[in-house]
Amino acid sequence: MRPRTKKHLEERIARCNHIHITDPCSMKGHWRIDGRPLHLEIGCGKGAFICGMAAKHPETDFVAVEIVRNVIVMAMEKAVAAELTNVRFISCDARKLEEIFEPGELSGIFLNFSDPWPKTRQHKRRLTYPSFLKIYENIMGGAGKGEIHQKTDNRDLFDASLEYYRESGWSLRNVTFDLHGDSIETDSAVTEYEQRFMDMGQPIYRAEAFK
Ligand code: SAH
Repeated sequence: MRPRTKKHLEERIARCNHIHITDPCSMKGHWRIDGRPLHLEIGCGKGAFICGMAAKHPETDFVAVEIVRNVIVMAMEKAVAAELTNVRFISCDARKLEEIFEPGELSGIFLNFSDPWPKTRQHKRRLTYPSFLKIYENIMGGAGKGEIHQKTDNRDLFDASLEYYRESGWSLRNVTFDLHGDSIETDSAVTEYEQRFMDMGQPIYRAEAFK
């Protein structure tokens, strides 16, 4: 990246500093506000979903994690433009989540159009891989607490994920292989990727996992 572009990016990020948590580990155990529920999206991309959810659910707090800085900046700018007060952002890798959240601090996790990592040797990087499910279980406070809601356009990732949930002891509900065709009622917001695949007439797969 050229220096001028990088400087521009840092300036844009700085303008969002009230919702950008730059030292998330120092927040461990202190994320919840007045006992309000706290939901996390992992890999928020440009932020249509998390901003849509925050606007729809003012009674809930949201946190979004995204590893790519020039993508998360767009999500933060959306939240600032919409004057949302119930969403915060962390630029980091989902592998670090246990350093950031105390067990039980989160009540829900959203995985939307996560990278499919198709090659066998890459499967462990999938955000639904059993090692990640263990992390999610911990930060949501163990069995019986919290839910994972997943949407994807990728059938291989979806089929594998259903298997990962089952083999890790999670139960499934509201599983659909055509979210919009089935007209399933959810309180969900549409993501950028979802809109793109819907416009192309492709089915969206969705599942809710709980323990
Ligand atoms: N959820 C958005 C973007 C989907 S693309 C949508 O549905 O439109 C997947 C996103 O996840 C990318 O922006 C990618 O940078 C991010 N991502 C992938 N692996 C990640 C990880 N380990 N930690 C945090 N973000 C990750």
